[in-house]
Amino acid sequence: MTTPKYYITTFGCQMNVHDSEVLAGLLESMGYISASSCEEADLILMNTCCVRENAENRTFGHIGNLKSLKDKNPDLIIGICGCMVQQPTELEKIRITFPWVDLVFGTHNLHQLPELISRIREDKSGRIFEVWDCDGAIYEGLPVKRDNPFKAWVTIMYGCNNFCSYCIVPYVRGRERSRQPEAIVGEIRDLVKDGVQEVTLLGQNVNSYGLDLPETNWSFARLLREIAKNTGIRRIRFQTSHPKDLSNELIETIVEIPTICRHLHLPVQAGSTRVLELMNRCYSKEQYQELIDRIKNNIPGIALTTDIIVGFPGEREEDFRDTLDLVKQVRFDGAFTFIYSPRIGTPAANMSDPVPEIEQKLRLTNLIKIQNEISLEKNKAYIGTLQELLVDGPSEKNPQVWAGRSSQNKLVHFKPAPRIKPGGFINVRIAGAQTFTLEGEVIG
Ligand code: SF4
Repeated sequence: MTTPKYYITTFGCQMNVHDSEVLAGLLESMGYISASSCEEADLILMNTCCVRENAENRTFGHIGNLKSLKDKNPDLIIGICGCMVQQPTELEKIRITFPWVDLVFGTHNLHQLPELISRIREDKSGRIFEVWDCDGAIYEGLPVKRDNPFKAWVTIMYGCNNFCSYCIVPYVRGRERSRQPEAIVGEIRDLVKDGVQEVTLLGQNVNSYGLDLPETNWSFARLLREIAKNTGIRRIRFQTSHPKDLSNELIETIVEIPTICRHLHLPVQAGSTRVLELMNRCYSKEQYQELIDRIKNNIPGIALTTDIIVGFPGEREEDFRDTLDLVKQVRFDGAFTFIYSPRIGTPAANMSDPVPEIEQKLRLTNLIKIQNEISLEKNKAYIGTLQELLVDGPSEKNPQVWAGRSSQNKLVHFKPAPRIKPGGFINVRIAGAQTFTLEGEVIG
């Protein structure tokens, strides 16, 4: 009997990427091994995202393409999981439109995968659609198959309580649930023993970590201090931070602890206070700017990145000018920019006064142009500086060149040398800068 193989396709954020590592771990604990393509797999899983319509459309396209594989191999198991299937309308669409899908499970019952597969294998004629709509408990100790031996994602909390008016996440991921600090510290300690140099702590809003724990004096800053003190990890990153919850205690903790990387991703979403109110973001343009000033004044050399949505319902030309103004004032190192995508079930989907698509596209182009100019200028300011890099290995686009990341999360390319290994630390002097990358010369 041949060893069964699995293939996982992942859409969406780092949370989903890490969930897929858990799915892979669960499958390998059942005896599956990884396939190099869908064609050679006995089990195909698609871990979906529903944050933007585009991601959903791509997922449906992929599911459609799997029909021919199922026709060739009726024993192939096709499973769909993740955020998209937590929405009843999308779940129904999969049930009706794609009869070749055998298995559907949601974000709250991912741990059930081995049991669900066993049931599918036993009852070959049946389809299993098992999606829990309650907030799942936290399941510790699930096996994880990590792709990167020296960088690891560590989820510290699940769900979100914020209900930004455009966002589907609280509806599909449930309310905030923090993992116990001992479990997080223990996991990172084990990762360090296995050679991991850098962890990225994940949560929809890491700044509200601990608020739901029975012991009342936990905070995200305290968790960071515990991790830095008790694990031996060389680098700590985290995402995502909601600006309304970023505390002075957290700023002080970043200042105090050198192993916390000098990079903050702080989504602003819009620069107009009126639009921020419509978005239910709970801060004004001025409050965001004041927070940025506090961060810059206290943490020298910090790199700042953000997310921005353009064309939100009701966004007028003057609101967009406020966004451009904020971008120029803050001078982000980089920004993920998006055209507003309505999500059924969110308050914004029912808002009047949509921005015409052509206008949305013009605003996006304008924003990207300005942000790219700023990113290039900020990168040029690194020329001549010394940076410590955690080495990733050969660049994806050009294997003759290697890549690593600085504390500020800058992607730096450099010429490889025999003693330099992926997962090691090197020092480089920055010799060149482009919009998205730096060039470094290895020293020492
Ligand atoms: S903070 Fe807002 S944008 Fe982020 S996950 Fe929660 S609801 Fe969505």
